Amino acid sequence: MALMITDECISCDVCVPECPNEAISEGDEYYVIDSDLCTECVGHHDEPQCVEVCPVDCIPKDPDTQRHRKSCRPSSRSLAPNCEQTLQ
Ligand code: SF4
Ligand code: SF4
Repeated sequence: MALMITDECISCDVCVPECPNEAISEGDEYYVIDSDLCTECVGHHDEPQCVEVCPVDCIPKDPDTQRHRKSCRPSSRSLAPNCEQTLQ
């Protein structure tokens, strides 16, 4: 349950201050989202704020974290802290 930034990012910096979790930072080539911090804005906003403001629409869901969450089970919780939000 996280979003990702693709290489279409133009490094405009608009999304950074909008993130309630400070999950977005400048990467080597373009901006990146820390999947451990991104909650897709759940609990803060109805829509992901970075997606709302991005002028080039380059922030899709991260397929790796979507698959990861679906495979989470209580027995693997200690090994996968990201599971907690799914299990609550
Ligand atoms: S979806 Fe929300 S929490 Fe995730 S990076 Fe974008 S603004 Fe931050
Ligand atoms: S708003 Fe979009 S284009 Fe601008 S830095 Fe963020 S991800 Fe990149």
